[in-house]
This record gives sequence, C-alpha cells and structure tokens, in this order.
Amino acid sequence: MRTQEQQEKNLHIARSYAGYDVTQAIRTSGYGEADRETMTRIINARYEKDALRLYEEADTAVREYLQDIIEETYYGKTQGKSEVRHCPKCGNAYTEEPALSREDGKTAICPDCGTKEAIAAFENSIIPKKWEAEKTLDRNTVLEILKRIHEAGGADATDAWSQGWDAAIDEAIRIVEDATGISVAEAID
Ligand SMILES: [Zn+2]
Repeated sequence: MRTQEQQEKNLHIARSYAGYDVTQAIRTSGYGEADRETMTRIINARYEKDALRLYEEADTAVREYLQDIIEETYYGKTQGKSEVRHCPKCGNAYTEEPALSREDGKTAICPDCGTKEAIAAFENSIIPKKWEAEKTLDRNTVLEILKRIHEAGGADATDAWSQGWDAAIDEAIRIVEDATGISVAEAID
C-alpha cells in the first residue's frame, strides 16, 4: 500500500526525470486505450499541479497501474536490481540505500528517517552537555570566574588597543556563559 505522499513523490519523479521513458512504457503496456491515454495525460501535463489534479481525478485502478509503471521504469532503471523496501518507521516504500537506525543499531530504515534520527541525535548531544555542566560545576566558582574576567576588562576605554582588550574579555565571558549556562549578570549584580 503506497501512501499518498509516496504516490505524489513517484509522480513528481516520473515527470521530472523519467517522463519520456514512462510515456513509452505506458504506450507499450497492456492496459486499455482509455487508461493509457489518462496515464499519458497525467505524466505529460504542463504543470505539476495539473498533473496532480488529473491524477486525483483518475480511477483508483488507473492510479495503481501508473504507479506500477513509474516504479518499474524509473526505480528499475536507476537503481539497478535494488528492491523496494518498506521503512518500519514511517511505512513508506523506498529504493535507495537504507540507513541504519540509531535506536537499535540494526534496523534498516529509509534515508529520510535516517536523517531525522541523525538531527535528533545531534540536538540531544548538545542539550544534555549544557545541563551536565550546570549540574557538576560549582556555581559559586563559576560566578567568581565570571566576576574576575569581567573586572579584567577596561572601563570603556577609547583607544584601539584597549577596545581590542575589552572585546577579548567580552568574548571570554561569552565562552564561559555558553559552556555553563550561567550569566555574567548574576556575577556582578
Ligand atoms: Zn522512513
């Protein structure tokens, strides 16, 4: 069972990359003339939205025929002998190389879900680090460090060298704030 999203994706691929081949495959297929005509019109519609509208108006059976033809011609052609796999996470069919799920390190999932898992893993890897730092660092020590760095800064000097010094102090403060989640404002009020 193909999801609507997968059907539309197939249709888009067929129109952009394999329009000619799919049209030929429709022509030589064994389906009835009216069905072949409908399928050809969908593939060769001038605009994507027209193609989608024609597709939605078509018979369920005709849509299925067309999806079969698209998958046979496009996926069969570009992916060689690779089979159509079904992703256990999102349920979509896919033919690209599968990704390994980070959840158990052994389940093959579709590349889209693989990317989503990678992004989630990255986000989770930075958020707990900040929290760990807040938990394990002695808060008063951090406040003392921030206060001392702050005091090492100039008193709004105007010459270029002093301005550079102040900028470096500000950067140092920002680094400590970033790493610990503790603000310099708490140290100097
Ligand atoms: Zn998936």
